[in-house]
Parts: sequence; C-alpha cells; structure tokens
Amino acid sequence: MTALRKDWDTYFMDIAFMVSTRSRCPRRHVGTVLVQGKKLLGTAYNGAPMGVQDCSEAGCMIVEEFEPTAGDEPNGGMIKKQRCIRTIHAEQNLLLFTDRVDREGSVVYVTDQPCWTCANMLANSGIAEIVYYRLYPKDHGKVAGLMEQRGLIFRQIANYAPPADTEVQDGFSPPTHR
Ligand SMILES: [Zn+2]
Ligand SMILES: [Zn+2]
Repeated sequence: MTALRKDWDTYFMDIAFMVSTRSRCPRRHVGTVLVQGKKLLGTAYNGAPMGVQDCSEAGCMIVEEFEPTAGDEPNGGMIKKQRCIRTIHAEQNLLLFTDRVDREGSVVYVTDQPCWTCANMLANSGIAEIVYYRLYPKDHGKVAGLMEQRGLIFRQIANYAPPADTEVQDGFSPPTHR
C-alpha cells in the first residue's frame, strides 16, 4: 500500500529537486522534503552549517576512501572514491529543522537514495516512508535491509523525470547571501 498516488509523488519529488538547486556543493546537489498527508512540513538540502563557509566559498572538503565495488568481483574489488564531507547531508538537515511530533508517520521525498548514516537516522526519526529518485548503489543493500527490518516503506519513484535544469552535475551558480 502506498500512501500517495503517483501524481503526488511527482509533485513532491519536483519540489525536492527545486530545493536541491540551493546546494552550494558542486559535487552533489541533494534536496529533500517532509510530507505529512499531502502537506509539506519541511525542506532541506546538503550544505555547510549556517554562518560557516560553504563549498562555493572554501572549496569542497575532500576525503578519499576505499569502497567495495558494486560488481561481483570474485576477489572483492575495492575502488578509491572521493567524497566531500563539508556539507551536512540534506536528510540530516531535514531532521534538524523539523519536529519529531510532525514527523510521526510522514513521508520523506529525497532526490538521492539516502546513505547508510542518513538512512539509519531516518529509521529512528518517526517517518513511515522514504521515496527517492537517484540510486546510491554503494549503500543500497544495507539500507534496503534496514528499512525492511524496521517496517518502513522504501521505494524508488517510478516513471519520473526531474524538472528541467534541476540536475546540476558540475559547476554552480554564484554564491547567494543568507
Ligand atoms: Zn562540497
Ligand atoms: Zn547521507
């Protein structure tokens, strides 16, 4: 059973993509919205804490880590990956700026499948459902297993295309003042 019809899915995912364009990290733009019934209760994107220089001002803060490859290499292949750790993830910002009581039984729409840490936090946040668009293969198996155990709906939005000009892969707009 899904709580919302497909046209509501599209509506709220479109908003998540609009929100993601606020991100100032050139490596990844993630947007998320919290929905209770059909009511929008919060929006968030990945960004540095308020009053702290963001990626567009100070550059990304890159760490390199070895991660298992997504494939089925017999030797358990590892690949070196770069990540920007300057930003608070969109899902964590959403939890910081919404109230627990509002989240009970709510739905989170997010442009990208949550990473393991965000999924773990969302699982304990009162929400009932996560809907995402872009897959994050590295953590997908772990996160799907967690959601199943926890009894939360976890699904990729079907038959969806983001609004024009909201999928920013590199380059970014001039910094805005806030
Ligand atoms: Zn960055
Ligand atoms: Zn995350």
